[in-house]
Amino acid sequence: MTYALEISGLAKTYKGGFEALKGIELTVKQGDFFALLGPNGAGKSTTIGVITSLVNKTAGTVKVFGYDIDSDLEKAKSFIGLVPQEFNFNQFEPLMQILVNQAGYYGVPRKTAMERAEKYLKQLELWDKRNVQAKSLSGGMKRRLMIVRALMHEPKMLILDEPTAGVDIEIRRGMWDFLKVLNEQGITIILTTHYLEEAENLCRNIAIIDGGKIVENTSMKGLLAQLDSETFVLDLSPTN
Ligand code: ADP
Ligand code: MG
Repeated sequence: MTYALEISGLAKTYKGGFEALKGIELTVKQGDFFALLGPNGAGKSTTIGVITSLVNKTAGTVKVFGYDIDSDLEKAKSFIGLVPQEFNFNQFEPLMQILVNQAGYYGVPRKTAMERAEKYLKQLELWDKRNVQAKSLSGGMKRRLMIVRALMHEPKMLILDEPTAGVDIEIRRGMWDFLKVLNEQGITIILTTHYLEEAENLCRNIAIIDGGKIVENTSMKGLLAQLDSETFVLDLSPTN
């Protein structure tokens, strides 16, 4: 079986010599809803950066739906929709423009892009905002905009880096419902979070990363059982 994500021996040493990743081994099955948990500075965003080729790795292999990012980067990237930890869109562009531009990078025709944008903007209660500049959105709205943007090329896998950090609980629940529906439609979802409640609500399988290493890789049920039996202390300090 081909995994949605297969990471082996992944290491990353940043300029200056800091070893952020020290040999990550990780697989995520197709269709899974997977959480990568870990405290601030553990290496979650670095791992996601390598998968999406925003960060150059030092060693190891990464395969996305069987395609190695070293030899088939464009193909591998075509499967991924990324919701980064930081807002990284042009704040002065209207939402529709941001979304149509994004679709354009992937060769999605304008008409299809408009239809897709309408569908998702409505589902995430952003349709009223379609013609306003992104800078006028609240933090929660900006995060939802980034989710819509990540879906414009209909990726098979969505990777979200702390998608609900700092978002009100009501809005967060709405985002959870939306992500659940996407997963039910067959999209593989990987998210990082420091809300255990979020992982508990959404995820079937988890890995815990700490100090650049995977220290636990189990089902959500397995993790909860360990927490219950107090054989395991989970330290998820809030991230910045
Ligand atoms: P997380 O997302 O789990 O909070 P990161 O992957 O962002 O962790 O960071 C892992 C470690 O790598 C941290 O100690 C961080 O300070 C360091 N780091 C991240 N980016 C860089 C960089 N560009 N240069 C040097 N060190 C970095
Ligand atoms: Mg991070």
